[in-house]
Amino acid sequence: MKVIEVKGLTKSYGDFTAVAGIDLAIEAGEIFALLGPNGAGKTTTVEILAGFRAPDSGSVSVLGFDPATKGDAGRSWRNRIGIVLQTASDAGSFKVREIVKHFSAFYANPRDVDQVIEAVGLTAKRDSLVLELSGGQRRRLDVALGIIGNPELLFLDEPTTGFDPEARRAFWSLIRDLKAGGTTILLTTHYLDEAEELADRVAVITAGKIVEVSTPALLGGRSTAKATVSWLGTSGLKSEESDNPTAVVTKLAAQFGGEIPKLVITRPSLEDIYLKMIGGQHE
Ligand code: ATP
Repeated sequence: MKVIEVKGLTKSYGDFTAVAGIDLAIEAGEIFALLGPNGAGKTTTVEILAGFRAPDSGSVSVLGFDPATKGDAGRSWRNRIGIVLQTASDAGSFKVREIVKHFSAFYANPRDVDQVIEAVGLTAKRDSLVLELSGGQRRRLDVALGIIGNPELLFLDEPTTGFDPEARRAFWSLIRDLKAGGTTILLTTHYLDEAEELADRVAVITAGKIVEVSTPALLGGRSTAKATVSWLGTSGLKSEESDNPTAVVTKLAAQFGGEIPKLVITRPSLEDIYLKMIGGQHE
């Protein structure tokens, strides 16, 4: 079942075309990542799908409804969706637990307030004022507010900006748990390791258009890209690109008569492939 289906989506701001004809189909239970440089149109797309912005043209279906004209279904539709946008709500004078509890009351089937606070690592700050939180803690609160409603579909727009490495790992684990529970997730991120870690599929967007949709392992011909074998030769560090690194290693092992000094075999990372794909296209 398709949870999100988009055809020919466009959106301009004045004369500037931010989304220039996007097609997307996201299946139930998938984690789908939108990747692209600053200004590529990712947030605009997410805001349209979440019903916060009207498109200029194209068809959009989210959980079976058009977000722009969901009519009477509006409330129950929104009940099924969780959203973490880039701009956080202004809740500075509330305490963390108060605001999560307050948001939980908007939903028909919310998660347990304290479990959600624990899941985002804010238990020690549950009685602190929101304005006293650090940037990363504030972002964790945004994530808590996004998942408190127990959504079927979760939109996450750069959710881990400002997270320390440990918080990012904890967040990944939380997202995997949500997926295991059946949540469909649409994520934007500038962290390619995050996309690799979490996403079943990724779409690369530049200048409002999708360049490719693929899995992190296959994007941009990554699985067939050459490997680089490097080692310490008699006259310094050497490297060789090859489709068949095993053959290179076998040859070197014979040459060295055993252990190859400082042997490393690397393949292009998702970030290498991504940068090649968007090369010269970002602002
Ligand atoms: P980032 O990675 O920086 O968050 P993005 O891919 O999410 O970027 P969008 O926020 O969708 O990009 O913006 C796409 C383009 O539309 C940008 O060039 C931006 O300046 C422009 N834009 C976005 N919102 C508005 C607005 N309200 N009015 C005018 N232009 C806008």
